[in-house]
Amino acid sequence: MLEALSISKSFTADVRAVRRVSLQLQPGQIMGLVGASGSGKSTLLNLLAGLTDTDTGEVRLHGERLKGPSEVLVAGHPDIRLVHQEYQLMPNVSVRENIAYTIRYYEKAYQNYRVDQLLRICRLEAVQDRTPKQISGGEKQRVAIARAVAEKPPVLLFDEPFAHLDLPNRTIVRAMLLELVRHDPEHQTACLFVTHDATDALSIADTLGVMHQGQIIQMGTPRELYTAPRTAYVARMTGPANLIKAKYLPQLGLGTDPNPERYACIRPERIRVGLPDGVEGVVKAVYYKGGFSEIEVAMSRYVRLLANTAEPISEGDRVRLTLDPAAVVWVD
Ligand code: ADP
Ligand code: MG
Repeated sequence: MLEALSISKSFTADVRAVRRVSLQLQPGQIMGLVGASGSGKSTLLNLLAGLTDTDTGEVRLHGERLKGPSEVLVAGHPDIRLVHQEYQLMPNVSVRENIAYTIRYYEKAYQNYRVDQLLRICRLEAVQDRTPKQISGGEKQRVAIARAVAEKPPVLLFDEPFAHLDLPNRTIVRAMLLELVRHDPEHQTACLFVTHDATDALSIADTLGVMHQGQIIQMGTPRELYTAPRTAYVARMTGPANLIKAKYLPQLGLGTDPNPERYACIRPERIRVGLPDGVEGVVKAVYYKGGFSEIEVAMSRYVRLLANTAEPISEGDRVRLTLDPAAVVWVD
């Protein structure tokens, strides 16, 4: 459906925002890209939407080369919708009219039916007559999403759809995206969203990529990226990770890798707390997470580990940690 073939974009000689990115986005698929600020996410979305010219490589939609803004009168493609980070709502008309605008050429009865449906799904019924100035950031974000999906475009691109949302709103938007993209068998949208926060990406994407300095450095299912990151960067971008230098491993009861330059990556939840034969350490910090606590344990002067426990534990407590060698992933 939507394909990038080794696309690159530089703004200046030293700002190479996107470097040889290739990807394929299929109908019904939700792809997430996680990357730090400045890694090229927004630039990539603009390239994929035909809003920025590529320097090299090409974007294909339904097998045909997508023309960049320098080649067409109106930039972009009617089958591709990009929801920008800054929403870009029409400021002087109501929420309802903002959503209806994209489907203004449809017959009135359908327009009303579709707008009512979206207002309900996005929980915007109560604010439908207000203008964007009169609603909250989370509501604006939902209006922007509702507007983008109104005409059921084949390709939906989202720039940081969760960035300005609080926890309850994140949950709503996440459920909404899943419902809109996946659970409508007649309109199999292809969806790509970028985010700097992996939590949402892990839970809704079926394919996840990690962007670093303009490149996609690893791509796979969220589970693959979480359990088998190839680099320390991927490990950190996809969740909490202990990254331990090889030379410290014997202290922790683990063998080393033949390559001393690599790091042992262990996710906190793979470390067992409190078994009698574990290695002793001192709790330096406790982060209460609700169902469990994340604890930071000093194992020696140089090694601190994050582990999870459901037991009540305080700073200064001595605990024993057991590192299962099977839980170690070697990363560059
Ligand atoms: P992200 O969305 O991941 O934060 P961007 O795609 O916005 O990253 O930016 C990638 C890099 O390109 C950054 O170094 C940014 O400063 C630079 N950049 C983005 N847009 C422009 C532009 N129009 N002109 C010059 N540099 C830009
Ligand atoms: Mg951005």
